[in-house]
Parts: sequence; structure tokens; C-alpha cells
Amino acid sequence: MIDRYANRFVCDLVAYEPGKPIDETARELGLDPADIVKLASNENPLGPSPKAVAAMTAALDEAHIYPDGGGFRLRSAIAAKYGLEIGHVVIGNGSNEIIELLCHTFLNRDAELIAAEHAFVVYKLMATLFGARYVEVPDPGFVHDLDAMAAAITDRTRLLFIANPNNPTGTMVGQAALEEFMEKVPEHVVVAFDEAYFEFLDVPLDTLKFVREGRNVCVLRTCSKIHGLAGLRVGYGLASKPLAALLQKARQPFNVNAIAQAGAIAALEDTDHTEATRALNRAGLAFYQEAFAARGLNFVPSVANFILVEVGDGNRVFAEMLKQGVIVRAMASYKLPGWIRISIGTAAQNQRCIETLDRVLR
Ligand SMILES: *Cc1c(COP(=O)(O)O)cnc(C)c1O
Repeated sequence: MIDRYANRFVCDLVAYEPGKPIDETARELGLDPADIVKLASNENPLGPSPKAVAAMTAALDEAHIYPDGGGFRLRSAIAAKYGLEIGHVVIGNGSNEIIELLCHTFLNRDAELIAAEHAFVVYKLMATLFGARYVEVPDPGFVHDLDAMAAAITDRTRLLFIANPNNPTGTMVGQAALEEFMEKVPEHVVVAFDEAYFEFLDVPLDTLKFVREGRNVCVLRTCSKIHGLAGLRVGYGLASKPLAALLQKARQPFNVNAIAQAGAIAALEDTDHTEATRALNRAGLAFYQEAFAARGLNFVPSVANFILVEVGDGNRVFAEMLKQGVIVRAMASYKLPGWIRISIGTAAQNQRCIETLDRVLR
């Protein structure tokens, strides 16, 4: 068996299961792709920024040229947006790659990575891949328990992930709690603030202050969510210059392609698109929370672009909704077998989702 010769940590891995694609659902169930609604991967229901599409279309003419491996224009645009310098910015093939770069840089068989019990699964996958110990801290009420996370730090801890807001719970921890927590974190621990949903917050957080203070933190952001460019794969990390320089060494020379760099620059500047997305999301969240309350369904109040709701048997509800052309996410892999996660869509998509859920639960 080939497995005998393979890296044991790879053999042990359970591959990440993404939201079910529309095409695959259409093929398997004999449905028309145009009739399928996907609310499974926290994608932007408004699509990409039209300005990003125009920039990418123009960039195609230069597709025969290697991208700028140093990402000068994109990193400069990101730095300017946050009042940082280019040396603070690392770009990745999605922010997932920044997670991987952090693990490349800090994990080995002696290291530990700390995350919350209902954290984004990629942290656990990466810790496993690098042979590190994954330390899971309970999150009562689905909110990160920062005191318990700080208490879990040992001499071997190298990375500590705080997704804020967290996926799949949609909850967040506030500024005061973060600052109190950071006072307890020793120098040998790098704190990764995964802020994929940051732009959806009504009360913004400031973790970049820790970057400015030179603390060992990395703030992760992405173009996949608010900017509607999940298919493009662009994310970035903001860190102190010495930490950013280490992460730069761990990446492939051309990790973010030229089309993606062009699209991301345009998307970051398109405030009309981000504002429209925020407004649509706010209305959609209110719609779901009211609908669940009216039906007596237990849900976790969310500040992100998705919501967790308890439906009894999550796998069954997922499968039944799928047959009716609505793709949501079952949560068994997050140890939440009774729950599904629904991404906020357009008003029409949300309406169809609730009607479908009603039929399935009846
Ligand atoms: C969606 C998401 C990301 C973004 O991943 P990309 O690789 O940038 O698409 C990162 N972290 C969390 C917690 C997410 O939910």
C-alpha cells in the first residue's frame, strides 16, 4: 500500500469538505443549474464588483507575462487602505494560504496550535498536516472564551487562532476583551486574527493596533467574502515587518496570479459595491432571525454573512433541501449534527430558502 511510504500526517488527514457546488448538484439530481440557489459558502449574492471584472478583463491581455511575484501594486493598495507600509502586507492565494504560511513558519512536531472548539476547520487540518498538536478550547454559548484560550498557552504554543467574527458560529468577541487577552499573550505565541468577515461588522474592531505596536500578531483578511471574489483566491495578512518577512519566505514565488491581483486592487477601491453588500446582508440577517424566531427555531445571533440554525437532523435537512434545489451547509463536521449553516443571499433567495426549510421541517 502506497500509504506506507507517505507522510503519516497526510494519511491521517480528513480532507476539507467545501460547500456543494451548483454544477455537481445539478448533475447528481438532474436539476437545472439556473434553478439552484447556493447558500453554502458565504459567497457574495451580488457577485463580484463590476470594477473588478473590468480590471480583470483588461488584465487578460497580459496573461502571457508572469505576475508581479512581489505583488507591489496590490500590497501598496492594501497598505494605503490601512495606513500601513508595504512591508506589513503579505498576499495569499486566499487567506487560507496565509493560514498555511503561518503554519509553515511556526509549526513542527513539538509545537501546539490553539483554537476554539467551533473554529474554522482549516486550522485543525493545517495543524495536523504539520504534525503539531491541535488544542481545542471550549466556547460556551458559541463565543470564543479568551480567558480559557490564554490559559491554554504553554511553552510549546506557537500559534493561536481567533476567527472574529467566527465561522461557523457568526459570533464575535469585542475590542475590550481582545485587549485584555493580548495583555496575557507571551512573545512566543503568534496570534492570528482571522477577520474574513470583518467588513460586515457594524461596530468595527481594531486589531491592526497590535500590528502597529509591533506585537506578534497577523490579521487575516480576504477578497472572498465582502468583495465577492471567492473564485479568484486572494487574501492577505497584515503583520509586523519581521513577521511579514518570515511569511514571505514561506510562499511560492507567484502565489497570487496576475488576474487576481488586478481584480483585487479594483475591488478594494469599490466602496459602492461593499456598501451595497453590507446593506443587503444586514437586511437578510434580520429576515432570517425574525423568521427563525417566528418558527420557534433555535439560532445563534450572527454578525457575519451566514447564520447557524438548529433543525433537528442537519444532514437530513441538508439532503432534503438539496433535492429542492437549495444548497445549505450541514454542520456535522463541526460537531454540530443538529444544525445547518445558511449563507445570507438576496431577498428572493432568502425567501426561497425559508419556504424550502418550512416544507422540509413540516
Ligand atoms: C471564508 C473564510 C476565510 C476565507 O478564505 P479564503 O481562502 O480567503 O477564501 C478565512 N477564514 C474563515 C474563518 C472563513 O470563513
